[in-house]
Amino acid sequence: MKWSWYIGRIAGIDIKIHPTFVFILIWFGLSAYLSGGSFTAAMTNVLLILALFLCVLLHEFGHALTARLFDIKTRDITLLPIGGVARLESLPEDPKEELLVSIAGPAVNAVIAAGLFSGLLLSGFFSQPMNLSVLPNNFWLQLLIANITLVLFNLIPAFPMDGGRVLRSILALGMDHLKATCIAANIGKGLAFLMGIAGLFLNPWLILTAVFVWFGAGAEAQAVELKAGLKGLAVRDAMVSKFYQVEANQPLSDVFQLAMATGQSNIPVISNGNYLGIIRRADLIKTMERLGNRAPAYTAIGSEPAGLDPDMPLTDALPQFTDSRVWPVLEGRQLIGLVTTESLQQRMWLNQRAKGTKTQSTSESTDAA
Ligand code: ZN
Repeated sequence: MKWSWYIGRIAGIDIKIHPTFVFILIWFGLSAYLSGGSFTAAMTNVLLILALFLCVLLHEFGHALTARLFDIKTRDITLLPIGGVARLESLPEDPKEELLVSIAGPAVNAVIAAGLFSGLLLSGFFSQPMNLSVLPNNFWLQLLIANITLVLFNLIPAFPMDGGRVLRSILALGMDHLKATCIAANIGKGLAFLMGIAGLFLNPWLILTAVFVWFGAGAEAQAVELKAGLKGLAVRDAMVSKFYQVEANQPLSDVFQLAMATGQSNIPVISNGNYLGIIRRADLIKTMERLGNRAPAYTAIGSEPAGLDPDMPLTDALPQFTDSRVWPVLEGRQLIGLVTTESLQQRMWLNQRAKGTKTQSTSESTDAA
């Protein structure tokens, strides 16, 4: 998450918060205050939101700490206005482990709900005559309802909800991971469709959730398909090894002519045989406007994605492929190839053809630049 503030570190995991969260707090506090409430009512509302987010944080720690049992690290946990996200470095491939990691989050909220329910029961809350005007204002009752909602919402069996992963992992106990994902994604899409229809008659929020679920299902299926398509391949297998390059002090006009003549949109820059960086099309034009045609090539080098090792498994390199469209493959400081979004897709397509498996369009799946 680009726009998030670091707020601390617990159990070795960075906790971040999205700035809009602060607006939510102010909004809920103010709206309680303005709708005729007192200062206490406003503070209670703010406290309720904070308590709810603590529950969401504990939910994410449920995922993160269970993943740690299987040696999977968590990069960070970010609290967003719509909930939390724990960024795990990878997902367990073993369906039993995935099942445990996915279910651990909702399980935390179920435990909290059970605790709150017992507390309310012991305090005699439920044996009092139900006063409907006071009922909705009870802090603990509201927190209980919120936690039950969290459990139910997260267990909807559709990606990107935890329930989607639970479903996939249960299916994967009896079949191949990719097939299980496709079935789970289709069930998710079916649910999203029904939710959308229901939303037309009941509540527009359902339509929004349906759209979210529909795209979540598609993205998950594509990501798994991509990974399955690249299994067993090394970076070397997906790189372009014939490409054009320029020397660091060649003028930008040369780079421009080369790009025009060859159609290669990313041009590597070399100095004394060593790789310096890549000039991207947009950077080339911007630098020429700023510094003129005669400026040396190296001035147009953009921000650098890390060089890839040619023997690295492609599936291990995949997480890096989200923040660029071209990656240099380096042997020492020497550039031996380029992996591009297109070369990846080409390789995957050929690989699937060779395996004789069903090919589906995978366009743009790695293009989330
Ligand atoms: Zn979760």
